[in-house]
Amino acid sequence: MPIWGPDPAPIDKRKGSALIKGTRSWNVTQSPRRNLYIDIDGVCLRNASSTATGTEPAPHVFEFLRWAVRWHRPYWLTTRDAHGQHDGVLRAFRLALGYAALPTEVEVLLKSIRPTRWHGSKVSGIDLGSDFAWIDDSPLTVEIDALRARDLQNRLIVTDTNKDDAALPRAIEAICSLPNYVRR
Ligand SMILES: [Mg+2]
Repeated sequence: MPIWGPDPAPIDKRKGSALIKGTRSWNVTQSPRRNLYIDIDGVCLRNASSTATGTEPAPHVFEFLRWAVRWHRPYWLTTRDAHGQHDGVLRAFRLALGYAALPTEVEVLLKSIRPTRWHGSKVSGIDLGSDFAWIDDSPLTVEIDALRARDLQNRLIVTDTNKDDAALPRAIEAICSLPNYVRR
């Protein structure tokens, strides 16, 4: 699997189409630039019994991250690093790829996604007053309840790459389909 191929077909910003090479185009309206809070395990990396570390990059993950950086404001929201650093994030990808060192382009991409500080609930790491989407495979009930209490449950995009190879393209479609944001 090429880790870092040439750019896919140019993205049509208005339609959000041709986002992922080899998959169908998205006939959706391009959303405004949003804060995207992105989980790692079960979203960007998935379980793999065949690798020494038990994880591998999820299908479409680098295309997804490049799309997120290009059109939105992505943040890491992960147990891999909850202290506002990139170290745990870079380590997770390095292990999943089985490399001693990350390719430069991959490292630049991962570092261009901002780390967050959060404690207890991942919702504590989200700017709830912003136009956001949260991409996670297994949010806790208490976290879902916290969003529901603010009528923000539609901002949670449950995305499980352990169960669905097309989960990340589906997440893009879901993010693009979110209703227009109304500041509270
Ligand atoms: Mg997870």
